[in-house]
Amino acid sequence: MYKIMTPGPVQVSENVRMARSLEATNPDLDPAFFDFYKEVCDKLAQIMDSSQEVFILGGEGILGLEAACASLTEVGDRVLIIDNGIFGRGFGEFVSMYGGEPIYFKSDYKNPIDVEALREFLQRDNDFKYATMVHMDTPSGVLNDVEAISNLLKEYSILSVVDTVAGMFGEAISVDKGNIDILCAGSQKALSAPPGLTMVSVSKAAFDSMLNRKTNICGFYANLLMYRGYYEKQAFPYTMPASDINGLNAAVDNVLAEKGIIDRHMRIATATRKALVDAGIKLYLESGFSNNVTALYVPEGVSDKAILNHIRDEYGIMLAGSLEEFDGMLIRIGHMGENAKKEDMEMTLEAFQKTYEDLGIELKCNIKEAFNRYY
Ligand SMILES: *Cc1c(COP(=O)(O)O)cnc(C)c1O
Repeated sequence: MYKIMTPGPVQVSENVRMARSLEATNPDLDPAFFDFYKEVCDKLAQIMDSSQEVFILGGEGILGLEAACASLTEVGDRVLIIDNGIFGRGFGEFVSMYGGEPIYFKSDYKNPIDVEALREFLQRDNDFKYATMVHMDTPSGVLNDVEAISNLLKEYSILSVVDTVAGMFGEAISVDKGNIDILCAGSQKALSAPPGLTMVSVSKAAFDSMLNRKTNICGFYANLLMYRGYYEKQAFPYTMPASDINGLNAAVDNVLAEKGIIDRHMRIATATRKALVDAGIKLYLESGFSNNVTALYVPEGVSDKAILNHIRDEYGIMLAGSLEEFDGMLIRIGHMGENAKKEDMEMTLEAFQKTYEDLGIELKCNIKEAFNRYY
């Protein structure tokens, strides 16, 4: 079994694994399960700082993104796609799939969205039903100020859909301060539960927009209206994955029990990046570094696969390459959730050092020692 220092899924703690093996009830028929589900949703709302309705959907993180687009989009709707990364851009495909017209506000992928530039764009064109954006775009690790963006959109009565699948729990976020209409989170990133669940916060304005549609939502699994009033009706749209939710509950309790979880992530991320830079490694981003992932350039003369396979096969550590236009160009270290621990980073950076040395790539200092100086 490799140590998975990847940007999700990440390592899962023992108490979460044990919780998943508990005896499970019939979630459609047992009133206690409705109370339990609601309790977990309430705890998630507390972490999201959301006074809106929160639901857990039975499907991996992508389900939340698709559900938001499926539930809001009607044929011909203009939707603003705020794009400074691969997941940011990808929202446009969901919008098209459901008949909407994606309009892109595209900016440089090495930096966060410039909120003032977006303001100027909106002064010229603001006829959008909703806008999509990503909190932390994992293929590059860029972090966006989604609360400021969402509040700006509110000035133009544009609903906001925010993907924080890989941001939340390692980065602070507040639904209420940002007036975020739909927030999508996932189980397998900084929360450190296995993949399989999506958590969404949905505002009254977003539900009103769905209820005021002229046409029905196209789809069942991705229809957020199906969840409305589940508690009063004591009915879910489909059988809930009870064991997954048991595990999620334990992971949520771990987060709630840890004061300073964001600081832990920040400390690890900062020391990691400084140490890599000292060693002469070039990072992809210019600004907007997140607490959860570091993306670095593959050095000249070797392939990403050579590095990734070597560190995995020789030292038992799994890192990740990146996607699409970054494929072959970047390597990513996921230091979020259970991965954001000093010992794990030491082990990872030591293996990283040895891998570079084994492959004949020169480094300017000992990365693990530099990490410990900065930590
Ligand atoms: C991981 C992730 C998702 C979920 O997608 P998968 O790659 O299928 O796990 C969605 N958005 C972001 C930003 C993610 O990092």
